[in-house]
Amino acid sequence: MKQATTAAPKTQGRKLEEDDLIVIAGGGGFIGGALARYFHDKGFSRIRAVDKKPLANWYQRVPGVECLCLDLSEEANCKVAVRDAVEVYNLAADMGGMGFIERFRILCLRSILINTHLIEAAYNAGAERYFFASSACVYNTKLQEDPNCRALKESDAYPAFAERGYGWEKLVSEMFCQEYWAERGLKTFIARFHNVYGPWGTWDGGREKAPAAICRKVILAKDSGKKEINIWGDGGQTRSFMYIDDCTKGIDTIVHTDELIATPINLGRSELISINELVSVAEQIGGVKLKRTYDLSAPKGVAGRNSDNTFIKQVLGWEPGISIRKGLKPTYEWIEQQYADRKAGKKTVEDVA
Ligand code: NAD
Repeated sequence: MKQATTAAPKTQGRKLEEDDLIVIAGGGGFIGGALARYFHDKGFSRIRAVDKKPLANWYQRVPGVECLCLDLSEEANCKVAVRDAVEVYNLAADMGGMGFIERFRILCLRSILINTHLIEAAYNAGAERYFFASSACVYNTKLQEDPNCRALKESDAYPAFAERGYGWEKLVSEMFCQEYWAERGLKTFIARFHNVYGPWGTWDGGREKAPAAICRKVILAKDSGKKEINIWGDGGQTRSFMYIDDCTKGIDTIVHTDELIATPINLGRSELISINELVSVAEQIGGVKLKRTYDLSAPKGVAGRNSDNTFIKQVLGWEPGISIRKGLKPTYEWIEQQYADRKAGKKTVEDVA
């Protein structure tokens, strides 16, 4: 089902050349870092990653990729970041899992500054394409009160009743993208991610999402010999989880499909699983069985959320296909290594100040 947008004529652009400059905002983060590696591995030679974190805290430093430390909520820094850019990918945001976005709504809302300045700078710099990382948190929360919820299709964002703070910031930034196309002809692309996970992402510290948090808890329970795991909520809440390789492939494909200009699209798996099932998968990978306790007062988000992939299949003839069983194994193994490094006294990317 196609989103209603203010229609401007669709044009087919030129193909991205290998020496065109690609700018990735949030390049020190999980998805931005993976995207820099993805384009690098595809043969693109001019990639600029920009992030406000100190370089030592970036998850990935890809050889040959220019790395700039800039706070993109500042207008002047956005101008520097996008100079000569042909394509700009905005993956920068102050965000985290439910524990973070329920508690720090102001920080989440303030990410509006990043997209507001970055898209204006990209437009003024003459960029040809602009991508915005939106989220399933834009969807009307009233449609997500049941763990057996129906999957969310793109039109379910309106009438709007988004997740307070984070979801509203995403919804308004989506609108910026749509209007830059309608009024100024900048080709913008918007993907609504559904829970992305994988190696080289946040696994500790309060911003981590459920798959990483559960892997870490299983690893800790095994290592400590306590054989117990505490789960936020009653474990019955359901989600879909997309592996990072599906995410990077999806972003690239969406940005280079003119039919999707200024048209929000779901980018997520359509396999709905409960948090209890997620724990079972992590236990199987770790080769343990743990006693489960439940913290009913912890943040748990909406009861159920899944991605309706009718639209993406119709437009792209593709949808994210990597199952949780396949994707959680490398994620678990990477976190296990991080955990071991920390225990051995080495600093991990989460530790370096
Ligand atoms: P992340 O926290 O790993 O990466 C975001 C990066 O943005 C961080 O490295 C952070 O330092 C950087 N950043 C924050 N404020 C900045 C600023 N003012 N200037 C420059 N850099 C700044 O998160 P992620 O999982 O890689 O998410 C990337 C994008 O995808 C975000 O917009 C997020 O909202 C969106 N998203 C992610 C998920 C998910 O499951 N990971 C789901 C839905 C949407």
